[in-house]
Amino acid sequence: KEKSAAPVTKEELGRATWTFLHILAAQYPDNPTRQQKKDVKELVSSFRPLPLVINDRISSKSEHDVICTQVQMLPRIYPCRECRDHFKEVLRANPVLTGSHAEFSQWLCHVHNVVNRSLAKPIFPCERVDARWGKLDCEQNACEIIGSTSIF
Ligand code: FAD
Repeated sequence: KEKSAAPVTKEELGRATWTFLHILAAQYPDNPTRQQKKDVKELVSSFRPLPLVINDRISSKSEHDVICTQVQMLPRIYPCRECRDHFKEVLRANPVLTGSHAEFSQWLCHVHNVVNRSLAKPIFPCERVDARWGKLDCEQNACEIIGSTSIF
């Protein structure tokens, strides 16, 4: 029988998630499309707990649609309860900024520092964020965010 892999710790999960988010920010265009802004907002929001919608009756189609969307989002929420609960408060105080590469990468650096502070970790100098998280090294621009050149 195959041995199961060691469980992933919340530190490993956190490191991998921050890496993903900072690389995403590094690739985020200077002039994002409306769709890209929406995608990033939804992604970041999926790290916080969703409000539980408990209704006796679903009276209209739109209400039903809202609930379906929330249920579909459930698998996307961050799989560390303590982190979700904390990050929800961080997001409440610091709504995500997605207007440009600079705005999003600086916002992300700031909220990462808020989490760092709460865990007594060193504060990262945000003016160095582009140097720390360079763009992905991909052949033939294959790492561009999908749709980054299209106009909405
Ligand atoms: P990480 O914080 O994972 O950072 C990885 C690397 O990013 C660092 O080595 C550094 O080079 C760079 N870096 C650090 N700060 C910044 C910055 N501000 N901007 C740019 N780059 C930076 N853990 C908990 O115990 N409790 C929590 O409530 C909690 N909440 C979390 C919420 C979210 C949304 C995420 C993604 C993670 C959370 N974590 C939480 C995990 C925690 O933040 C760390 O990921 C984990 O402790 C591992 O830390 P690390 O020292 O390896 O560096």
